[in-house]
Amino acid sequence: MGAMEDEVRLIRADLDEVEELDGSCELLRGRLDGTAVVLAQCGIGKVNTALAASAMVQAGATSIVFTGVAGAVAAGLKIGDVVVGNRFIQHDADDTAFGHPIGVVPGEPPFWEPDPDLFATVFDAVRTLDEPRGHRVVAGTIVSGDQFIAQAEKVAWLRATFEASAVEMEGAALAQAAHHLGVPFAVVRILSDSGDGDAAVDFPAFLNDAAHRGRDLAHVLARVLRV
Ligand code: SAH
Repeated sequence: MGAMEDEVRLIRADLDEVEELDGSCELLRGRLDGTAVVLAQCGIGKVNTALAASAMVQAGATSIVFTGVAGAVAAGLKIGDVVVGNRFIQHDADDTAFGHPIGVVPGEPPFWEPDPDLFATVFDAVRTLDEPRGHRVVAGTIVSGDQFIAQAEKVAWLRATFEASAVEMEGAALAQAAHHLGVPFAVVRILSDSGDGDAAVDFPAFLNDAAHRGRDLAHVLARVLRV
């Protein structure tokens, strides 16, 4: 799964035996290096992500890996580094009036975690690809909300409140949806910006690089996750 055209276009170009499926977003079934896959471009934001996750499972997906870009939040991370999510929170969920901590969706757990085996497989694959190229690859908390973060104060708040490593707009929605659908999931985010006043300039400039790295990862995962 990816949200934007740049996050899926090169993976789509490498698919064989492509079949277009009906759905709320672009949904394809095909083969990547011989492995049966479903590819979704879910669109931006939490609701689109949940719809796409459901459609992917109906189309036969038995696990879901999101690859895309995000804003850097943790100190020491910079554009080009990678966060693989080991904890997911919806930073825009607010039921504090009823005593819940900020970021908790009523009736849901305080945070979601990925499937440990899938996480380990994906983390190893990203490290193998990206560390030799000089990028840091870390496991960390990914916070998601229907907001493009482009303000240093907001980044500082996300860091202080959630100990977040990266901020984006889909990961924690996939986490919630996958939990309800009963499928393992993992999220890989290449950092495209720092969520600050430069974010709206840095983000588009980085998308092409992210597209190539997402494709490389998809090929490695197609080999190691072959069923
Ligand atoms: N107007 C832009 C909107 C991009 S939204 C466009 O149409 O292209 C940003 C996308 O990249 C989302 O899918 C989100 O998950 C991710 N992202 C990257 N940097 C982000 C940031 N600083 N804050 C929130 N999401 C970010």
